[in-house]
Amino acid sequence: MIPNERKDVQALIDRLRAGDARSVSRLITLVENQAPEKAQVMASLFPYTGRAIIAGITGSPGVGKSSLTDRLIAHARDKGLTVGIIAVDPSSPFSGGAILGDRIRMQSRSTDPGVFIRSMASRGHLGGLSIATRDAARILDAFGKDVIIIETIGVGQSELAIAQEAQTTILVLAPGTGDSIQMMKAGIMEIGDIFVVNKADREGADQTVMEVETMLMLESSKNGWRPPVIKTQAVSGAGVEELWSQIEAHGRFLSEGEVGRARRRGQLRDEMVEILTERLKNDIWHKASQGRAMEDLLDSVEQKELDPYSAAGRLMELIH
Ligand code: GDP
Repeated sequence: MIPNERKDVQALIDRLRAGDARSVSRLITLVENQAPEKAQVMASLFPYTGRAIIAGITGSPGVGKSSLTDRLIAHARDKGLTVGIIAVDPSSPFSGGAILGDRIRMQSRSTDPGVFIRSMASRGHLGGLSIATRDAARILDAFGKDVIIIETIGVGQSELAIAQEAQTTILVLAPGTGDSIQMMKAGIMEIGDIFVVNKADREGADQTVMEVETMLMLESSKNGWRPPVIKTQAVSGAGVEELWSQIEAHGRFLSEGEVGRARRRGQLRDEMVEILTERLKNDIWHKASQGRAMEDLLDSVEQKELDPYSAAGRLMELIH
């Protein structure tokens, strides 16, 4: 990194710490684009992080995630708390305004200076999206947002990984969709710290609550935390207060006990390994693509003179 870039990054961070929302956007774009300054940005911000409540909201499209998020924003704002929202769509290559444009409800919040909303999308590298989301949450944390909500569009593999970047993962279901059965089969239920049965005004809500509770009884309690099942109506706001208190209760559970500490350590370990893997991969790729070695080996594999395992072994030797 050239010295000027270092200075620019520091100036951006200073402005962020002084409360300038534009520098938040610029820093998030920087990490999203994997800019070379990324490591410096995250290192400088790290000491200011760890204060915010970070919750992930996930569930099938249409269950009411964004309506609930909107209610949670209102609730937090009533309490005088500031909020950061990261709306993540792994299936879309567009970020910035594109997803946000569809989210009229949330847009009505974007004029409130106490609310910062950002969408993120895959830009073709899915693996990097959960890292970028986590980094964006840290930037918002360092910016001083009290509550950060990571909302995903659906419940695909990459969305689950993203939702788990949060401290508290909220799984939203709706009655009559058969979602709980499907999710149980796919092993998705295991990630929920809090279960929400939204659209509780609809028939079958109690049945869905029972299904989830039965499933939770079969599962061993999550190291001392039994996930609560809450009925909500995002349209009227019913149940949102209860949801909020459970988010706070889970936060306390994580910050007070040994289990919470073990979980945080586990997340940090995963993060370090992820960063290391990413770096090694880039490094290997960079070295392997120099010269003709890769192309020559590819020729040999294509001609069946060499198998892919042996070719990878040769590349390893070249790199070392
Ligand atoms: P998302 O795709 O999960 O973000 O779902 P949305 O928040 O966009 O909601 C999908 C639809 O469900 C919208 O038309 C909402 O108005 C409606 N909806 C959300 N919450 C409730 C609720 O509690 N009851 C009913 N009846 N409809 C709801």
